[in-house]
Amino acid sequence: MTQKLILVLNCGSSSLKGAVLNNDSGEVLMSCLGEKLGLPDAYITFKVNGEKEKVELKEEPNHTGAVGALLNELKKLGLESQITAIGHRVVSGGEKYSESVLVTDEVVKAIEDCIPLAPLHNPANLLGIRAAQDIFKGLPNVVVFDTAFHQTMPEHAYTYAIPRKFYRELGLRRYGFHGTSYRFVAGEAARVLGKDENNLKLVIAHLGNGASIAAVKNGKSVDTSMGLTPLEGLVMGTRSGDIDPSVYSFLADNLKLSIQEVTDILNKQSGLLGISELSNDCRAIEEGAEQGHEGATLALEIFSYRLAKYVASMAVAAGGIDALVFTGGIGENSGAIREKVLNYCEFLGLKVDGERNLAARFGNSGVITADDSKVTAVVIPTNEELMIAHDTARLSGL
Ligand code: ADP
Repeated sequence: MTQKLILVLNCGSSSLKGAVLNNDSGEVLMSCLGEKLGLPDAYITFKVNGEKEKVELKEEPNHTGAVGALLNELKKLGLESQITAIGHRVVSGGEKYSESVLVTDEVVKAIEDCIPLAPLHNPANLLGIRAAQDIFKGLPNVVVFDTAFHQTMPEHAYTYAIPRKFYRELGLRRYGFHGTSYRFVAGEAARVLGKDENNLKLVIAHLGNGASIAAVKNGKSVDTSMGLTPLEGLVMGTRSGDIDPSVYSFLADNLKLSIQEVTDILNKQSGLLGISELSNDCRAIEEGAEQGHEGATLALEIFSYRLAKYVASMAVAAGGIDALVFTGGIGENSGAIREKVLNYCEFLGLKVDGERNLAARFGNSGVITADDSKVTAVVIPTNEELMIAHDTARLSGL
């Protein structure tokens, strides 16, 4: 039977993540990961039915080569003619886009205009769009922006307390990220809880390698922890999150570092990794803490404490909290962190159920608070690819 399949692409500067989804069932028929793109030893790995196959991209070791190899793989699988549209994850749409859009020349220009707001990501996203247009000729392309969902934030939530001319002249403001995940998870949470999304105050914590939290009131984002860049907010795998801005001049003056070097320290050497001096990976941190590693124990506590403080501040943003939602690799699996956060937030009416909390991992989701908890906490697996596929199908008129 012919199915309507959507190809979802998520391009980084040297990587390409792809997935082919059946938009109706959500089934993933194939996924791939291109790595070292731009280097002579670039390759792409395909995963079909649990089997992996690696293809070297010798002739064209770049994004176009990776998309070309993807097309060959689809031909081999007999799926090529069933691909009906392509959806692209794009990090920043600035203030111009509050929703996903079909790719046109004007959209490409707008993504280029937003490069100063996402200098590492938007250029890579554009490479993916161009490669898809070149290789899958004639198919509609749709872009789904990470920032779009947060465009409903009120001015008092997105404005920094610095001279306003920087906002007017440079667009310097808080934008937020992980928007596609929040949109998906907010809808799922309402469904799982049997509530109307348009009458629901959610605080959602998306905890992956990058981590953020958002207040979603009646289906709309009203605040989130990431700002101009994904460095602001929570403690993350290697990112510091919130910090006294004077740390910049303190480190630069004392260690004779450039601004870029301090930025690298805060983005790549901080967070769980910096505190624990062990790992940026939550599993390794949990294991370390269980074995009495002092740095891992402290990292786990700081991560949870800072997250709990943000839960309270997001409850202010939403004007209350009906449910706290955990998602992302850590949110979906780490019972230890969830329990710490819920204990810190007991005063808000959250009461953890130990057994339910421990059971919610490896794809098992559901409520993790006790029946007499005033506020519900729930684990909901995110699925950004499916959200992108749905938008792509809708905007392509499928
Ligand atoms: P990304 O931001 O790259 O999409 P993920 O959402 O995949 O990240 O989350 C990665 C994080 O999830 C890592 O810190 C990893 O250690 C953590 N994680 C994955 N599985 C588990 C687990 N079983 N227990 C604790 N943490 C986990």
